[in-house]
Amino acid sequence: MPLNEFEIIQKYFSKPNKIRHDVIIGIGDDAAILKIPPENNLVVTTDTLVVNVHFPKDVSAKDIAYKALAVNLSDLAAMGAEPAWITLALTIPTNDEIWLQNFSEGLFQLINEYNLQLIGGDLTQGPLTITIQAHGFVPKQKYLLRSGAKVGDFIYITNTLGEAAVALQILQNKINLTDESIINYLFQRLNCPTPRVKEGMLLRDIANAAIDISDGLAADLGHILELSNVGATIALTCLPIKESLLEHISLEQLWHLILTGGDDYELCFTVAADKQKKLKEVIEKFNCQIHCIGIIEENPGLRIIKSDGSQYILDKTGYQHFL
Ligand SMILES: [Mg+2]
Repeated sequence: MPLNEFEIIQKYFSKPNKIRHDVIIGIGDDAAILKIPPENNLVVTTDTLVVNVHFPKDVSAKDIAYKALAVNLSDLAAMGAEPAWITLALTIPTNDEIWLQNFSEGLFQLINEYNLQLIGGDLTQGPLTITIQAHGFVPKQKYLLRSGAKVGDFIYITNTLGEAAVALQILQNKINLTDESIINYLFQRLNCPTPRVKEGMLLRDIANAAIDISDGLAADLGHILELSNVGATIALTCLPIKESLLEHISLEQLWHLILTGGDDYELCFTVAADKQKKLKEVIEKFNCQIHCIGIIEENPGLRIIKSDGSQYILDKTGYQHFL
């Protein structure tokens, strides 16, 4: 006999993971009751994943759940927030218990890793759609915004870019790779991105502006420039890449995918010249990977410079819905 809505919630989403002290009432009542730590601001974000729009039908339930939560945590990271609670609105075509079990595993893997608590949600029947809302805290006045970049700031990226976009090209049969280990790595980057929560929190006292890269570097850095009323010059040769990819794809192709592809969920942030020493100390102490790619300037717009000093002309910006 198939499980009903309440049995599904009970079996797959009311896991007794670590109960947080700031949750007065979690799942089970009409709404959750929560405590925000004193001297903190509440940071809230939400994201929806729709089958065949944000992921193909054959992605595993575990990966879908993981990514749905990871992209929300990435948005909190970009604000410098520490994640705390999530809600889940799940629409599923059928109550397939194997699918639900795998979905629950992917979700609770990240919930446990970041000491989160699922505090409520909704379950409905229809085309597969996952909406997660994530809540986090940031000490008052310490949040990071897209609008804070200042002329003279250095522009940084965490880790490397472009791997998720290469994986998407493989899915679309536009790139043909045979090396299993690199394919697995690329799909791990696409399906299970690591939200840069630690880095976001460390940057609270250091960065002037931050964003997470979901729509390609050009589009997302463009948001910082626009909202901060500044421009920037970045150097193509400084874009952080995984060197071993160059055995399979040309550098020019990889640069283009980094600038326009998206799905990286790395942070792009800007830091003033007088905070460079502090940045270096923190990054070394906490073992983070960052790369300087350019500088914020007064002249509006984004200039991308090739190694010979000439300007690289971009023929497409990031992915946008409804265009
Ligand atoms: Mg974002």
